This record gives sequence, C-alpha cells and structure tokens, in this order.
Amino acid sequence: ACVRRFGNAAALEDLVVPPVQISYTQHLIDGKFVDAASGKTFPTYDPRTGEVIAHVAEGDAEDINRAVAAARKAFDEGPWPKMTPYERSRILLRFADLVEKHSEELAALETWNNGKPHEQAAKSELPMLVRLFHYYAGWADKIHGLTVPADGPHHIQTLHEPIGVAGQIIPWNFPLLMFAWKVGPALACGNTIVLKTAEQTPLTALYVAKLFLEAGLPPGVLNVVSGYGPTAGAPLASHMDVDKVAFTGSTDTGKVVLELAARSNLKPVTLELGGKSPFIVCEDADVDKAVELAHFALFFNQGQCCCAGSRTYVHERVYDEFLEKAKARALRRVVGDPFKKGVEQGPQIDSEQFEKVLRYIRAGKESKASLECGGDRFGTKGYFIQPTVFSNVTDDMLIAQDEIFGPVQSILKFKDLDDVIRRANTTRYGLAAGVFTRNIDTANTLTRALRAGTVWVNCFDVFDAAIPFGGYKMSGIGREKGIYSLHNYLQVKAVVTPLKNPAWL
Ligand code: NAD
Repeated sequence: ACVRRFGNAAALEDLVVPPVQISYTQHLIDGKFVDAASGKTFPTYDPRTGEVIAHVAEGDAEDINRAVAAARKAFDEGPWPKMTPYERSRILLRFADLVEKHSEELAALETWNNGKPHEQAAKSELPMLVRLFHYYAGWADKIHGLTVPADGPHHIQTLHEPIGVAGQIIPWNFPLLMFAWKVGPALACGNTIVLKTAEQTPLTALYVAKLFLEAGLPPGVLNVVSGYGPTAGAPLASHMDVDKVAFTGSTDTGKVVLELAARSNLKPVTLELGGKSPFIVCEDADVDKAVELAHFALFFNQGQCCCAGSRTYVHERVYDEFLEKAKARALRRVVGDPFKKGVEQGPQIDSEQFEKVLRYIRAGKESKASLECGGDRFGTKGYFIQPTVFSNVTDDMLIAQDEIFGPVQSILKFKDLDDVIRRANTTRYGLAAGVFTRNIDTANTLTRALRAGTVWVNCFDVFDAAIPFGGYKMSGIGREKGIYSLHNYLQVKAVVTPLKNPAWL
C-alpha cells in the first residue's frame, strides 16, 4: 500500500489539518485488503495541484466477481442476515463511534482527495456521516411486516426480508456521505454489499470500510472495489448474483446502469441523477437574505451538487437590486486552498470536470447572457474556477438547461407566479427546488406546483438523515434517506396459513 504524508511543517503553518496517512489502497473483499486480480493500479489525485497522491487497486470484472461471490456467501451462509436486528444495530453504532474517533483524519483525507473545504468536511459532513449511521442503527430493530386482513379463514402476515446482495455505485462529490446514504440502510435491513467508489475519490470509503471490520462487521458483508465505470461499475450492474443496484451519478450513466440491470437479471434499480434546480426569489423577499441563500444554493461544494440551485429565478421588481448584490457576493467568495481556514471554495474535482465547466462558461459568454463576474480559471495550478455569475439568462440557453456542476450562477428574470411555475418546471430534471418568500400563500402555491423531489422553503441543502431525497422525471427513480430508503433494500414476503386445517393434526 502506498503511504505518503500530507504536507510538512512549513507547508502546514497556515493549514488547519493534521498530517494524514493513506493506509488503504487495495480492494476490501471478504474481510481482507487485496490487490486487483490483474495487479493493476490507477492514480488518484490532489485536485489542488493535480499531483498524484496514491496508486489504488484497479478493479475489473474479475474483482467484481470475487467481491460478489464474497457478498453472496456472506448473505446465504453468513451470520449477518440471521443476526438479531439488535446485534446489527450495535455494530452500526460501534462503527459510528469509530468514525467519530477518526473524524479528523477522515475529514483531512476527504479534502485531500476531493478538494472540498476542510471546514465543511470536518464540521458538517463527518458529523452527518455519524448521524446517518445512528439513524439507520435505530431502524435496524424496527423493521417489521404486517398482519393483513383476510377474506377467508386464513392468517396472513408479511415478512420484510433483506433483498440480498446490493451493488452500489457512488460518485465523487460527497464520497463519504454517498457511502452512508447507500450502506446505512442496506446494512440496517440485513443485506450484504459490493460498493464501487468513484474513480476520482477512492480513499475515504476504504478507510471507513476498515473501521467497519473493527466494529465487528462479519467478513464479506461489505466489500469495496475501486475502479472505473465501464470496467468495474458495469460488471457490477450486470452481475447475475447481484439482487439490487443503487446508483448516484449522471443521468446518462444512470440510463446505462438501468439497462444493464434490465438486460441481466432484472434487478431493481434506484437512481439519484442530475438536476437543474430552480431557486425562486419572490417579489416580497428580503433581498440580502435571498442573495446569500441563492449564493449558497449554487456555489456550495464548488457547485458540484446534484441539487444545486442552478437556475436563479428573480422577480422583476427586485431583479436589479438582487443582481448587483449577487455579483458583489460572488466577488467576495473566498477561493483558495481548501485546507485554509475561511476558504469557501476549493478546486473542481479533476481536469475533466474543470474543462467541462470552462466549456459551459464559454457557451455562456457566446450567448446573449451577460457575464457579471468570474468567467475563467482561478490561479495557475490545480482545478480552481472563479465564482461566475451570468445575468439576462433565458430558458433556452445551454447554461440554463444543462447541469454544469460548477461555480456558475445563472440569473433569470420572471414576472409572476404562473410564469415562474411554468418555466421552473420546463426541464427534463426534477430533483429539487428552492423558494424564497415571506408570503405563506406564495410558499404553499409553489411547493405544490413545483415538480421536484425536494422543495426547500427559505432554506436550502438541509439534509437530515430522516428527510427523503430523490428525483422526479430524469433526476432519478426512488428515494434515499429516511424510512423510504429501507424499502429499496427489503423484499416483502406474504405468508398465508389456514386458521383451521386437518394438516395441523
Ligand atoms: P458518472 O455518472 O459517469 O459517474 C458516477 C459513478 O458511476 C462513478 O462511480 C463511475 O465510475 C460510475 N460509472 C461510470 N460509467 C459507468 C458504467 N458504464 N457502468 C456503471 N457505472 C459507471 O459521473 P462523472 O463522469 O463522474 O460526472 C459526469 C457528470 O455527472 C457531472 O458533470 C455531473 O453533471 C454528474 N454527476 C452527478 C452526481 C450526482 O450526485 N447526481 C455526482 C457526480 C456527477
């Protein structure tokens, strides 16, 4: 395994992070860290500089086969699905405690491999990771079926059973939280797992997988394979021994995953996909507060959120004031080394995303939209992009239609509620929406009319463990988090017994 320390005394001077060591770079299969069957590795990078920080085992179909075999065995023969739910719950709680204990290192590793502000990773995402596992540990012993009324002389009950081996494919924008959203409910229900991390961010999932072993998770229950989509993700989605697939990523890849699942064994699929979420600033809004929230809704996590409020609709009466202040806010945004205190925006994840965002910025410049600020890379190394604001954006422009996944705010003007409802819904996506108003009637009208899986009113990106998350339309299938996520990982079995029958005698 590659071992390299981050930083040195001099470089650490104004950094808020302890040295962190990369200890886990192999696959976790059947309770052991192992090299790829092919012996191949691939590089993983520090997005602040583009430098390689480690070489990680590169999984392909053979590694997926081995991991699925381990998960299958752990499900069919192992103790996990048969354990009492309380015992499972206690392992999840022990894991959460270990995450808490190692959260400094984990937050540092998350920032190092992903580029997100360290304060965000340490103060928000790590506590949320712990909370999610507490939440699902709480569900583990509260999953039960029903007694169903019968038409005839029968006793009918339903058993809620684990679905089996879950294949989970996660993205790079929230490596640890996406791990938690998928692994938490699957384990609470008694399933076993093969998880494929995103090729950009393999490191933290391997670290926490090790903590699961320490917490007493039996071998083979959670297997983690690193690798690329077509060579490791696709064999997982199409595997005949995988009973369910959960995927988060782009809509295009989601379609591929759904097709692979259908063409193989018709395994059920949940998909969390892209978005182009409207953030609607109504005429009665306190403009200063609206500007701050709209800014957060778009720029949070370098704009790399599937639910980013990436179409900022502003009522014509407050448009000019909003625009001036939104531009001033973007110009004040602190971009820099994500390890430095006070930095709000780090680099984009990799050169591919960096180039893609810059292409969209060029498309914006070539359209009739007005570039208010930003519009270029930030600095000369790594994948930093200036916070960018376009005004006079219209619905037909590429920057108003495609998911940019970067720090690019598009501001559009609207006349009245009917106008904005129609336009906000004119998108192939339906993941989230934001509404900013002081009028309860307006809030009620918009929350009912918007076709989106989440509507945040006078807030944005609130992600409690219990709040379901998922999309309408091409933003996905199914919901994650909350009680809804459990349904993704359970089968319902009806058991019918006669009330009176000579066979009992
Ligand atoms: P992607 O959808 O290609 O990758 C997401 C995951 O799917 C990764 O683990 C990847 O290895 C895997 N994957 C890729 N091809 C696969 C295949 N053929 N079969 C099975 N798995 C496969 O996303 P990306 O290329 O990293 O980013 C492209 C765009 O996707 C972004 O610009 C953004 O618009 C969107 N995105 C959305 C989210 C989200 O949270 N919804 C997250 C990341 C990216």
